[in-house]
Amino acid sequence: MLVHIKTILKKADAEGYAVGAFNTQNLELTLAIARAAVAQRAPIIIQISETTIKYAGLKPITHIVETIAKNNTGEVPIALHLDHGKSFLVVAECIKAGFSSIHIDGSELPYDENVILTKESVAYAHKHGVWAQGELGTILGKEGLLRRKKKQIKPEEYMTDPNKAGEFVKQTKVDTFAMSIGNMHGMFVGSEKLDLKRLEEIDKKVRQPLVLHGGSGVSVRDIKQAVRYGIRVINIDTELRVAFTSAACGAAKKDPNIVDPRRLLSPAMDAVQKVVEQKIKLFGSANKA
Ligand SMILES: [Zn+2]
Repeated sequence: MLVHIKTILKKADAEGYAVGAFNTQNLELTLAIARAAVAQRAPIIIQISETTIKYAGLKPITHIVETIAKNNTGEVPIALHLDHGKSFLVVAECIKAGFSSIHIDGSELPYDENVILTKESVAYAHKHGVWAQGELGTILGKEGLLRRKKKQIKPEEYMTDPNKAGEFVKQTKVDTFAMSIGNMHGMFVGSEKLDLKRLEEIDKKVRQPLVLHGGSGVSVRDIKQAVRYGIRVINIDTELRVAFTSAACGAAKKDPNIVDPRRLLSPAMDAVQKVVEQKIKLFGSANKA
């Protein structure tokens, strides 16, 4: 069933586990994510990015998620969230479309401008009963340049400062907080190490649920420790894309004469469901619905 994100996160915070926030782009990904949630009896967040809104249209993709949550998942709670909203306009559109949570990402702006944009978005969200996520610090991997420069820049230059985090949350009144602690967008198996000491300090300064972006590729050990230090939401996008695309390509390679799209998409859905179920178990949210 479709619920407000606060229902899911208040329980997760009280019981000390993390909830997966899985990106969808279409009907098939949404079905696969929802099937995994039902199979594991797990609360989940389904999130939509600005590029998906451009790809599928806001209303169609919103209605796909809502319809599946309302009709296919029984009592298993699903919340709808905007991932990396870069402007007040997209935030307002998603709130109007029925999202219970939005992410306003001003992390690329200077601190003061980030505060202004976030404050404005949070105030609008709260006026409509919607939760808002803010972000401070630069999460690497968004662009190749930043990734290549990683070795030359010091952690202090891009990771979130715990004291600033506390100040930011107080000033903006965000409900959830995303930060940079060595997490990267995309999948960087083996090289993505979280600064858990920094996370522990941020957790002391911020009482709101913490969000780990770029969860794909983070080691099992770091994920488990991060959950102990207050991470309550873990975003997974890239691993789902990889599972979906490689299964579909695999099916096409096996039989190049396929004309029925469902013969490409069914194995893709199965592959995504498998990944989502693994993540749910790792995050500790299985059987929490
Ligand atoms: Zn992200």
